Amino acid sequence: ENQVLAVRDLSVRFYTYAGVVHAVSQAYLDVFERETVALVGETGCGKSVFTKAITGLIDPPGRIETGQALFRKRDGTIVDLLKLSPEEIREIRGNEIAYIFQDPSSSLDPLYTAGDHIAETILEHRPITKDEAYQEAVQLLRDVLIPNPEVRVKNYPHELSGGMRQRVVIATAIANKPRLLIADEPTTNLDVTVQAQILDLLRGLKEKYKMSLLLITHNLGVVAETADRVYVMYGGRIAETADVNTIFEAPMHPYTQLLLRAVPNPLKRIERLESIPGTVPNLIDMKPGCPFAPRCPFAMEICRKEDPPRIDLGNGHVVHCWLHAKR
Ligand code: SF4
Ligand code: MG
Repeated sequence: ENQVLAVRDLSVRFYTYAGVVHAVSQAYLDVFERETVALVGETGCGKSVFTKAITGLIDPPGRIETGQALFRKRDGTIVDLLKLSPEEIREIRGNEIAYIFQDPSSSLDPLYTAGDHIAETILEHRPITKDEAYQEAVQLLRDVLIPNPEVRVKNYPHELSGGMRQRVVIATAIANKPRLLIADEPTTNLDVTVQAQILDLLRGLKEKYKMSLLLITHNLGVVAETADRVYVMYGGRIAETADVNTIFEAPMHPYTQLLLRAVPNPLKRIERLESIPGTVPNLIDMKPGCPFAPRCPFAMEICRKEDPPRIDLGNGHVVHCWLHAKR
């Protein structure tokens, strides 16, 4: 009963002229109360599509083929996010589930002040007056550590630095005290100092607001510093999941191992994830077999023919790889 989100068997495809793109296949993920879960992988691995699917943001030619995304609401009822009507999912989005997008600037309207953005989100979901909403906006700007919030609340995006804009986006996201905050690459376009500050801020807010955090990132430094548990995604599938220490100290999937080798010291420095050899998988008209096989140093005959099995190593450590299958 302390589970906030349970995604099972999620498959999302895009029907394009070039073919069917298997963006996400049989993916799963759990989020418990007040924990930070990281969904990690290279660009194009399907992690953004995954979160868009569970928040009702997949548009044609995209289609959710299979799956469930059970979400426990504040009142304790459980809903399947994939089965809700557009109105129902809109009521949850920005309210019980909030989403911070990759690029802070693009999610702020240049014609609206910081206060307008926050107040609009509040008024969309709660029956309070405009004045009260703007008062809450000032308090929220204070919570995200913006100096002089009474002044800043009247600022337009162009009057704010990149870091401050991202703080406004975060303030807007938490305005209705979400149970789950999804942050998609929240620090990607910020410089290293600001990145660290934003991560600190997210950690602090998570405690203060008693939220769960789902962090989408390709940055293992971010993962090491923030996450409790990690899901590694490759080619639209979950390759491995475990608690953060196990992922860094005893990774079992060859892809996770290569990812970690590509980062000099993820526990000490925030580093950008360098590419590992080989090209990212082509997700068009995928054949059965392990999507990592073309790049995997351990690939065997069977890896190219059959989907890797799910191997449960205990303590929440699960790997999808033929290497670990008992035969
Ligand atoms: Fe490598 Fe085979 Fe494991 Fe895939 S299933 S990661 S190709 S060993
Ligand atoms: Mg993305």
